[in-house]
Amino acid sequence: MLEGVKKAFAGLVDRIKTTTLSESDIKKYVEDFKLQLIASDVAVEVAEKLAMEVVERLRMLKVPRFSEHKEAVMQVLEESISSVILEVDPDSSFVNLIVSNYSLGKPTVVLFVGPNGGGKTTSVVKVSNYLKSKGLNSIIACSDTYRAGAVEQLKGLAERVGVRVVSHKYGGDPAAVALDAIEAAKAAKISTVLIDTAGRTEVDKNLLEEMRKIKRVSNPDVVIYVGDALAGNVVVEQVRRFNEYVGIDYVILAKLDADTKGGSAISVSYMTGKPILFVGTGQGLDDLEPLNKKRLINMVLGRAS
Ligand code: GDP
Repeated sequence: MLEGVKKAFAGLVDRIKTTTLSESDIKKYVEDFKLQLIASDVAVEVAEKLAMEVVERLRMLKVPRFSEHKEAVMQVLEESISSVILEVDPDSSFVNLIVSNYSLGKPTVVLFVGPNGGGKTTSVVKVSNYLKSKGLNSIIACSDTYRAGAVEQLKGLAERVGVRVVSHKYGGDPAAVALDAIEAAKAAKISTVLIDTAGRTEVDKNLLEEMRKIKRVSNPDVVIYVGDALAGNVVVEQVRRFNEYVGIDYVILAKLDADTKGGSAISVSYMTGKPILFVGTGQGLDDLEPLNKKRLINMVLGRAS
C-alpha cells in the first residue's frame, strides 16, 4: 500500500541525513522528491505544496547536519504532509449525525455516487456493516436500475451482513426506489438509508442529470463519492466534477490495499476540499477503515501506526 509515496519520502530522508547540506543541495533533493511524488500520482499542485513546505521548514531548522536531528526532520515531513490533508473522524461526524437524527425520530439518508467499478456497491455494504458495529441499523436502496445483475449483486452482499435491500424491477425509476427505502426506514424505525446508485462518470450528462433528480427527491443528509484509489489523479478530477454537478460531502477511496502509488490518498482532500471518510482495504465486508491524519502520516513515513 502507498509504496510510491513512501519511497519518495524515504528517499528524501536518506539523502538529507547523509550529507552536510547547502541550500542548493536541499533544493535539488526536494525537486527530485517532488518529481517522485508526481510519478506516484500525487497531483502536481500537491507535490509542489509539499516540496515548498519541506524546503521552508527545513530552512527554519537551521542545522547543518540533519543526521543529528533525525526526529526534527521527521517532524518537518510530518507537518508538511499534515498541511495537505483534511481530516474527518467518521465517528464524531458521520455516526454522530445518524445518532442525533435518530433521536429526533428521522432516518439519515446517505447517497453514494461514483463511476462504475470504483467499489461503490461493496462500499455501501461495508458502511452498513460499519454502522452495525456501532449499534446502528440501516436499509439499502438499490437505485441502480440500469445494470443487469445490480440487484442480485447488492442483495448477495447485503445478505452477508444481514441488511435489507429495497429494489424495484430493472428499468424502473431510481428515485422512486430511494423514496420507498426512506418510507420503509421511517415505518420500521431504521436509523440509516444507504442509497446505491448506478455508476456514472463526469461526462455522462444524462446520467448526471438523473443523479440530480435522485438527490432532489431523496434529499440526502450526506452525499459520498466512492472512487477507486488506483485511478490516481483521475479520482481528483472526478470528485471535483461530481461536486460541481451534485455536491458531495465526503470521499470513500476504495482499493487502497491494491494501490502501490498512493497519490490519490495524499491529493484528494487538498485538491477538492472534501475529506476522505473511509478507505477500502480489501474485498471483505470488514475491510473499511477511517483514514485519520496520524494514520496516513505514519503509513507514508513507514512508521507502525
Ligand atoms: P461498483 O461498480 O462501483 O459498485 O463497484 P463494486 O462494488 O462492484 O466493486 C468492483 C470490484 O472492486 C469488486 O470486485 C469488488 O470486490 C472490488 N473492491 C471493492 N472495494 C475494494 C477494496 O477496498 N479493495 C479491493 N482489493 N477490492 C475492492
